[in-house]
Amino acid sequence: MHELIKNFIDGEWVGAAKTTKNINPATGESLGDVVVSGREEAERAIAAAKRALPEWRRTPAPRRGELLARAAVEMQKRKEELARALTLEEGKTLGESLGEVQKAINNLEFQSGEGRRLNGEQIPSELPSTLCWTQREPLGVVSLITPWNFPVAIPIWKLAPALVCGNTVVLKPASITPWTAKIIAEIFVAAGIPKGVLNVVFGPGSSVGQVLVEHPDIKAVSFTGSNEIGTRLYADGAARMKKVQCEMGGKNPIIVLEDADLELAATGAAQGAFGSTGQRCTATSRAIVHSSVAQEFTRLVVEKARALKVGDGVQAGVNVGPCVDEGQFRTVMSYLEVGKKEAKLAVGGERVGDKGFFVAPTVFVGVKPDMRIAQEEIFGPVLSIIEVKDFEEALRVANDVKYGLTSSIYTKDVSRVFQFLEHIETGMTHVNSPTVGGEAQLPFGGMKATGVGAREMGRTAIEFYSEWKTVYVDYTGAKRTTNIY
Ligand code: NAP
Repeated sequence: MHELIKNFIDGEWVGAAKTTKNINPATGESLGDVVVSGREEAERAIAAAKRALPEWRRTPAPRRGELLARAAVEMQKRKEELARALTLEEGKTLGESLGEVQKAINNLEFQSGEGRRLNGEQIPSELPSTLCWTQREPLGVVSLITPWNFPVAIPIWKLAPALVCGNTVVLKPASITPWTAKIIAEIFVAAGIPKGVLNVVFGPGSSVGQVLVEHPDIKAVSFTGSNEIGTRLYADGAARMKKVQCEMGGKNPIIVLEDADLELAATGAAQGAFGSTGQRCTATSRAIVHSSVAQEFTRLVVEKARALKVGDGVQAGVNVGPCVDEGQFRTVMSYLEVGKKEAKLAVGGERVGDKGFFVAPTVFVGVKPDMRIAQEEIFGPVLSIIEVKDFEEALRVANDVKYGLTSSIYTKDVSRVFQFLEHIETGMTHVNSPTVGGEAQLPFGGMKATGVGAREMGRTAIEFYSEWKTVYVDYTGAKRTTNIY
């Protein structure tokens, strides 16, 4: 249980007129209350961030980086507690939550170093006695709008580069995962964040989120979430000349060729499809398998799906937690019905128990590339197996979706690996390993309908949160004779 979760605005914990319950998806029980804010609180947070901006952008970048390093230490101290809160409000298993918190710590550590590397370039001028260089500048007040499925890692992988670049921030976490966001704010307080530099507002996307996109004092918006919301938000931001970054859905394939190590491929497919209950943007949702090995691959994946224990993520031995809430549970259940009509069920396809939002790891076979279960993001523990006759068809099917986040190929054929790497239309890709995962020092994001704007994480993250100023210094000390055009 937690105390009433309040907004964090201008260094203070601030209430709102309304509250709602934070529900544990494994038990259906309330974990405590959280404020439901609206336009007023969002505007207060933006005003606080605007006031804090001049001082924060003047703070030397290495000092800003040190704050992130201190936050990494504070997060390490609260790792178990934060992971437990994550499991209780989002549902993933404790092991998965610990992994997510570690990923957030890695991002804080990596981006803290960017404070000492936030350099531009000295570039030669074509004029004599002229020195030219580029320097990075913060954008101003930025808003960060984040989803529920990685409620620790995603806010951190946005916050860390935003802060190190000298921006001040208003974070709007997903409404159904407020506890982890509150702990994140507390961690930054313990690390010594100046008041107003980080503000967190809890409330619906349709009110708080909308203000964070439309307000004239917001210079940039970084969004992770669904395509439906991201597409609208991108248009709204662009109409106001804001810099907008959107990371959205996926329909990630693994290709399994006839020479693949099938045990390895089936293990990777099961990890990718059922890990985190399939509620990962990088989840494996399509296995595109050479017909000569499809039967054996299916047997192995089904065996692995059956062996998984579904249950409350806080319990030892549980491999697959619940769907995050009733809405997501209903969406997944409706896709199971679609799948049963379109294709053939190999395992799963049903609810587990009658309490909480648990779904059995599910595999469909006989799936055709144009079926809904092969095209639409389900965001649940569901894998569709599509048989193909050769590598060329596998590649065509892999690319034949609107999304382009991540992918994988299982083969020992080096030539096909490189052809795959050249032609696959995803922002991240893997060879002989699952579609999931992402390291703090490497760019993260997708192509096509998955992503617009600079990649997150790694050094590329600072591209979004800073802009360039080009400087020319003429030190001739006299009237220039050279023609300037
Ligand atoms: P969502 O419904 O789009 O919500 C994402 C965030 O946007 C939430 O904070 C939400 O607030 C807010 N929001 C909703 N309506 C808004 C509006 N009109 N204006 C501004 N903000 C608004 O997504 P989700 O269900 O939380 O997350 C799942 C999706 O995220 C999946 O599609 C998944 O693939 C994607 N995802 C992508 C990546 C990636 O890096 N590509 C990573 C993780 C997840 P409320 O919570 O109050 O509704």
